[in-house]
Amino acid sequence: MPALRLFILLLSFSLYGAVAIAKPVTEMDLRKHVEILASDDFEGRAPGTEGERKTLAYLESQWAKAGLKPGARGGSWYQPVELVRRGPKQASVQFFAKGDKLRIVSDDILLVGRDAAYKTTKLPSIFVGHGVNAQGKVAADVNGKLAFLLADDTEFLPSDMKAARNRRTALIDAGAAAVISISGEQFDFPIYRRALLSRPTSWTARDKRADIEGVVSPQYMVALVTAAGGDWDKLRAAARSADYAGQSLGLTVDLDIQSEVERISSNNIIGKISGRKAGSGAVVFMGHWDHFGICRPEGEEDRICNGAVDNASGLAVLTEVAKRLGKAKLDRDIYFVGTTAEESGLLGARAFAADPAVPLDQIQIVLNVDTVAIAPKGAKVAIIGRGKTGLDAEVEAVARKMKRKIEPSTDANAFLQRQDGWALTEKNVPALMVGGAFADLGKMEAFLKTDYHGPRDEVVETLQLGGAAEDADLHVELGRYFADARKFKPKKAEKGTGE
Ligand SMILES: [Zn+2]
Repeated sequence: MPALRLFILLLSFSLYGAVAIAKPVTEMDLRKHVEILASDDFEGRAPGTEGERKTLAYLESQWAKAGLKPGARGGSWYQPVELVRRGPKQASVQFFAKGDKLRIVSDDILLVGRDAAYKTTKLPSIFVGHGVNAQGKVAADVNGKLAFLLADDTEFLPSDMKAARNRRTALIDAGAAAVISISGEQFDFPIYRRALLSRPTSWTARDKRADIEGVVSPQYMVALVTAAGGDWDKLRAAARSADYAGQSLGLTVDLDIQSEVERISSNNIIGKISGRKAGSGAVVFMGHWDHFGICRPEGEEDRICNGAVDNASGLAVLTEVAKRLGKAKLDRDIYFVGTTAEESGLLGARAFAADPAVPLDQIQIVLNVDTVAIAPKGAKVAIIGRGKTGLDAEVEAVARKMKRKIEPSTDANAFLQRQDGWALTEKNVPALMVGGAFADLGKMEAFLKTDYHGPRDEVVETLQLGGAAEDADLHVELGRYFADARKFKPKKAEKGTGE
């Protein structure tokens, strides 16, 4: 049947161009993975749990079947990421002024130790205002003391010291034994309190802490300073000066603090497709595998945060992309990185960026895939990281070839620092998130305001995988394009604007 054969030939030309192209990714392809990864059996994929073990075993078997090889050091699939989780347990806090016990009429204090048990007596205390001066330096003598820090930002603080976290670190570097943040307008006490009670996770390699850290409300400070015969309003006013050097509170404190401290051994999973041209660089696909695990107390009907959209959907896309690129003969190496502890502050991605399986200057592009089951088929393509990498035009050209429309605004960049790619952007590696989910910000916001990070982000009949399937096809083509040394030639000068 020559006529029919010609027709098929023309059809394959018009749809897919001259190169043999992968079978399109279907919603059903993605749904199969999401149903497994977001099932109750996977317990919400919390780092260090049975849920991690099952998740990584599933990804490893899928990726191996796709033709990927172990991509981490020592021929392993896994890059270990050591984490530590801390929360308050029990605290006895007694302040003294000139030897007299003070009675504070406020319970707005919450303290967490670096270690499970901490006990000290006669610790001197100092109020340090915003912690650093206009030059970003700690001017107060905090060595061996308890420092009370105003958490709110103020005008004179240099940009790298706007975040309370960085001022806390500066105080610890200056020798503070304890740092207590005073909540304010930017973070009020209940928010701080909730954050500490949720037992936040840190990456052990960046776990610089004082013996004791915690939070008090401004009302607590009023009660404390008044009990000691001082004037809180005056102290607070003095701290507005750009060269404030702190003031002793004339107080000592006895502390006996018990804390929950849990060490967690977790992992990034890394698979690799070797390219034909050694030394021509690498393309990195990334997506976080972790979610919040069993996230509701005993007695509640649904206790598991399954993370179907966030981010079983991204893992499903990565896995289907892996299947289509696993046996392709491309020039550059392609890495697939499933990161841990994204939900705790991009910790797995930071661990990858600090000790990458491939030197960072070899990476041509990082394509992160997160929370993609949002938009239906036909969504425009947005770029998180637009304007930051010099690669937008090329990404758009690939998308247009796939008949996708482009969202030209930079609105999606609002999410730039909230996704794993940021850990690479910070190191001047070009990292983008490309797809439909962040083009339809109305639908995204609706998700963020409802099911996001709760037990209802789970597999439901109405799970929207139409846009995700198109995004998966787009990522297959982006992989083919950026891994092709003739098509994509790196322009060193444009790489990473560092903004
Ligand atoms: Zn999340």
